[in-house]
Amino acid sequence: MTVIQKPEINAEPTSRAGRIVKAECILVALPLQADAKPVWAFSSAPKNTFDTLFVRLETDTGLVGWGEAFSRTEDLSLKSLIETRILPLVIGEDARQIAAIKHKLEFGLHNFGRVGPTMYGISAVDIALWDIAAKAAGLPLVDLLGGPVAGEVEVYASLLRYDSEEGVAAAVRAAVAEGYRYIKLHETTYPEIAAACAAAAGQAAVMLDVNCPWSVTEALEMDARLAPLNLFWFEEPVWPPENFRGLARIRAEKRHRIAAGENAGSLHGFVAMVDAGAIDIAQPDVAKTGGVTELLKIAAFCEASAIQFVPHCALFGPGLLATIHINASRQPVPLLERLYCQFDADLYRGATSPVAGKLAVPRTPGLGFEPDPDVIDRYRVG
Ligand SMILES: [Mg+2]
Repeated sequence: MTVIQKPEINAEPTSRAGRIVKAECILVALPLQADAKPVWAFSSAPKNTFDTLFVRLETDTGLVGWGEAFSRTEDLSLKSLIETRILPLVIGEDARQIAAIKHKLEFGLHNFGRVGPTMYGISAVDIALWDIAAKAAGLPLVDLLGGPVAGEVEVYASLLRYDSEEGVAAAVRAAVAEGYRYIKLHETTYPEIAAACAAAAGQAAVMLDVNCPWSVTEALEMDARLAPLNLFWFEEPVWPPENFRGLARIRAEKRHRIAAGENAGSLHGFVAMVDAGAIDIAQPDVAKTGGVTELLKIAAFCEASAIQFVPHCALFGPGLLATIHINASRQPVPLLERLYCQFDADLYRGATSPVAGKLAVPRTPGLGFEPDPDVIDRYRVG
């Protein structure tokens, strides 16, 4: 006689993720070594330090998840906003419920901005929840996103701003010598851009990111002047960043592939860009644009819209790790952005330093690495 065992259909699966019992922010500012200017000189007294604003979540099953919010110039106001407005809303939540928690935060706080600091904090919580989910599963994050398409990702050297032909050319030569095949400039004047392209000629593709300085008329003039340099893409030429009609006007000239998106807050920003015909390359930032959850939606939208998905990543903490996992899960694997500068200390003991322009995808559970507590203690500013 065949015995058919009745499945236990009502059994609640045990969650290893647990409930969130502790949530905190940790702001670290690492001194950087570069003979270049920080592009993020948002204050009147720019610092040669680089923020990593961690969100650390702890659950009653003993798991710890790390997230990161976009931050610059020792932004204690942003840390305070996250601590007082966002983190109290996650205490007691079931850490498995990433989508529900993200929706609760977004809906509850939408009057405080759909783009900017509030969304940076929500992004950090989302990244930390994915770290917990992957640790609970005992898998690297990439395995939860569909599995790795590649074991390593190609990195592009995203140079700081040198404002001198010799300076930027020397940085290009150094990056080429280290094995980078793709280099992005943050110069805004023609002589420096041309000098960098000459230094890279035949050895690396060059992208140009100008961070929204120009009117549409000015951008059209530069677009024409730069055309002979064969830039790999032209990023954020027009002010303001949400001037999608202006971007579409530049793109219509077909001289360059237009990249933008680091200043969008959600999937819907990218829908608006694509509807306007503004971009060829979408650049959401995992620590600004809603975390891992939102980047996966944007990646799917890009795939269906014949737009290239190449996340923005000027991050060195959990946001960088999350971006490695997201990129490694996409087909084709996007280039990984990493700022080209050295720090006095390394949050991950060198594990995120590219070798010959490539970074291995972590194979340990979660994001893959825990930040070095000694480095946090030494450089913590809030
Ligand atoms: Mg940019």
